[in-house]
Amino acid sequence: MPDAPAKPSREEAEAAVRTLLRWSGDDPGREGLLDTPRRVVDAYGDWFSGYAVDPREYMERTFEEVGGYDEMIVLRDIEFESHCEHHMAPIIGKAHVGYLPDGKVVGISKLARVVESYARRFQVQEKMTAQIANVIQDVLQPRGVGVVVEATHECMTTRGIHKRGVSMVTSKMLGGFRDDARTRAEFLRFLRPGA
Ligand SMILES: [Zn+2]
Repeated sequence: MPDAPAKPSREEAEAAVRTLLRWSGDDPGREGLLDTPRRVVDAYGDWFSGYAVDPREYMERTFEEVGGYDEMIVLRDIEFESHCEHHMAPIIGKAHVGYLPDGKVVGISKLARVVESYARRFQVQEKMTAQIANVIQDVLQPRGVGVVVEATHECMTTRGIHKRGVSMVTSKMLGGFRDDARTRAEFLRFLRPGA
């Protein structure tokens, strides 16, 4: 990946927000908007905090004393907020992550951290789904990984074709989750409501 261009100063970022306010037709000098650039830049620090995080680190801290447990581990309904890289509009959804351990497991909260660290970047849902699966496979090296992401894209629900209630579902299956229909079916069964 080419080096990202140098990070602009906070003043430049706030000036860009004022430009967008003017572009929208408003006056950044009016009282109600005076602090808005500062708030927006703060919010960006939060929404895009994933760039400062290396998700691999979450998968490196493992433990092996699991009493021989070698069945599927699934964390479902991991809520996330992301932003689409095409419109910078929110993507709101849930991820479900499963893996088949090969002798070592990670703390369950680490799976949620991995989802969050990729979500808090500009994203394409398909890419994020693959990134989550790939980092778990590459670093933890389980016998298989399954990731299902379902999300609504506000660039589609609040503008453009204005389709409310439409969600997009993407999945990435690796190892046993891809090659073994029974493993995949078991994983998908875990994701059904009430399972
Ligand atoms: Zn979009």
